[in-house]
Formats: sequence, structure tokens, C-alpha cells
Amino acid sequence: MNGRLQRVAVLGSTGSVGTAALRVLARHPDRFTITALTANSNGRLLSAQVATLQPAFVGLVANGHEAHPGWNLGNECLVQAAVRADVDVVVNAVVGAAGLDATLAALEAGKRVALANKETLVVAGHLVAQAAARGNGLLVPVDSEHSAILQCLTNRPASEVRRLIITASGGPFRTWSREQIAAATLADALQHPTWRMGRKITIDCATLANKALEVIEAHFLFGIPFDRIEVVVHPQSIVHSMVEFVDGSVVAQLGVPSMELPILYALTHPERIEDDGVPRFDPVAASPLTFEAVRHDAFPALALGIDAGRKGGAAPAVFNAANEQAVALFLAGALSFSDISRGVASALEALTGVPGGSREELLAADDAARQHVMELFKC
Ligand code: MG
Repeated sequence: MNGRLQRVAVLGSTGSVGTAALRVLARHPDRFTITALTANSNGRLLSAQVATLQPAFVGLVANGHEAHPGWNLGNECLVQAAVRADVDVVVNAVVGAAGLDATLAALEAGKRVALANKETLVVAGHLVAQAAARGNGLLVPVDSEHSAILQCLTNRPASEVRRLIITASGGPFRTWSREQIAAATLADALQHPTWRMGRKITIDCATLANKALEVIEAHFLFGIPFDRIEVVVHPQSIVHSMVEFVDGSVVAQLGVPSMELPILYALTHPERIEDDGVPRFDPVAASPLTFEAVRHDAFPALALGIDAGRKGGAAPAVFNAANEQAVALFLAGALSFSDISRGVASALEALTGVPGGSREELLAADDAARQHVMELFKC
């Protein structure tokens, strides 16, 4: 990164990662200026952000939510913001597969993409890699585990890596029995022990579907085969992930659980800049740090997702879309907690072998998976 002021678009600026990104950016006005903001539906908060930050471009995906004259409306606003000539860096904090086209367009236009939208890589990892290569764009993960791996790798090639070890908090049901988990309520599932995040990802953490998405994300980001990516439960969320190298040495990245750290690193990688917005790490206060094996019998979504990643083609897109749909129904009170993984398993089985080479085929598979879940639960 040169010394020039970096012009930033924040997609999903009113969500958990988006608002954290705005806090980080506000601390570094000498490095960054915000030229575009988009939100899904929170027109009121977006309006307040616009009043303070005065971006050149404002987008609101869902019309009818207190849009102002001059704002760009509808799904297209994400791509419009991502490819602007006055944008150098795109923070993609959109939730779900809806963020895919903006990631592809930004990479194709040669931007740095700070990617919090992991679904993009899960749905279409190979298309994302192709877009980055064609447009000379740079993809940098915001996800804390992947930021950790990027920092541990320090540019060493995949051939020097024996294993990636991705940590998982275990979620609110880490110590619950299978019977207790089956009876868990929405309020139970929204109680994440260490991270404060949006509702969709919080549910994904409770099922461990989020960790499956992250294994697939790591596979595409770092080019490591699935049989060399492991998941370990680490309830304190201090060790954000580890890399074991072929000489047996293991490098870990640690820090307080705050998304502001990986967001800042995604903006400055491979540089680091002075920042004191996050509480300092205190190893004594953080002690003890513990690790446990994943209880696959209690959290079937993890193995379902990793298996979909191994199969490739449209299977990861089916996993992701079925999960998004089932989580939306669970959040709406229409499903039980264990129905989420049941719906995902059923969609994967029903849609085995559907093609997933092109963007259109992947979006068709995404659509079919959502419909399968709706029909399965008669919604
Ligand atoms: Mg994560």
C-alpha cells in the first residue's frame, strides 16, 4: 500500500462488521476516506452514516426503507459501488450469497477486497480466483480465522504447510447434550459466548455451519486440500487459528476477540499501522487457553459442509443456500434448531450432482436448494 489516501466503499455498512469497519476507518483519516456506503434495509442508520461521512455514492438494497432522493436502490447498487473509479478498497460485509456479484466485479476491476462475506468464496471460490487473476484484484479475508492464517503464513507457499488448524468457539451449545440441543430455543441459540455478531452468523456458530463455511473459505483462499484443514474447539476465542508447517513448527495468531483487528489488517495487509482502538491483550487475564475435539455427533452441520466442500461443483453452494434458508426460517420461528441441519442434509442429498461450473449454474443450484428447504418444511 502506498502513502496515498485509500478510497473505501463499505458494502453492508449498517451491519455488525460494517459498523465495526466504520469505527476502524474513522480512527485513520490520514489513510482512508469513505466514498461509498451501501446497506441492505436499515435506511435510518444509513442516513445517519451518510450525514456524518458524506460519501459520493449511497446504495440501499431494499427499497421502501426510508430511502432518500439521490440514493441508488436495489441489488445493483452493490456492484455499482464496488466498481466505482473513486474506490480503491471494497469492504464486502454483505450477509449471504447476495454479496457474490460485488466481490467478482470489484476483483475484476482491480480493487482490494476486504472480504467479510465468506459465502462468496463458498458459493463460487473458483470464479472468485479467476476474477482476481483477470482483473489483478487483491482478496484479503476479514474473517478472524482467515486473517490469523494469512498472518501465520507470512507468504510461505502451500507446499510448506502441513495443516491449517481453524479454531471454533463451540458456540452456546458446546457443552449441551444432543437432547438439550434438539430442544434449544431461538433465544438460546442467539447467546454467543465470545463474539457479538449479526443474527445469521450467530446461529451458524451455534450449529457449527459457520465453521464448515470457514473450512471451505480457507481451502479457496490458501489453496490447501480439505484433508489438511482441521477444526478444534477453543472456547476462549483468543487463538484465532494456527498453521502447522512441514518442519513440525506451529504458528498461531492471538488477540482479543474483536472484529476491528482483522478488519484493520485486511485494510493494510501486508503492512501494519499503529492503532489503539481495541483493548490490549493480557495473557494472564486471558488464561487459561483450552482446546477440545469437535463433537460431530451433536453438530452434524460441520461434517455436512466439509463433505460438500470436498465434493465441489455446486455442493458448497447448495450447502450454503439450504443453510441460509433454514436459518431464516429458524429466525422466523418456523423451524426447530435441529431442523436446520436436517434441511441442509436433505437439500444436499436431493441436489447431488447438479452442475456448478458457471455463475448461472451456481445461482440455479442456490435457488433450487432454497426451494427444497421451503418445500421440505411446507413453508
Ligand atoms: Mg470467523
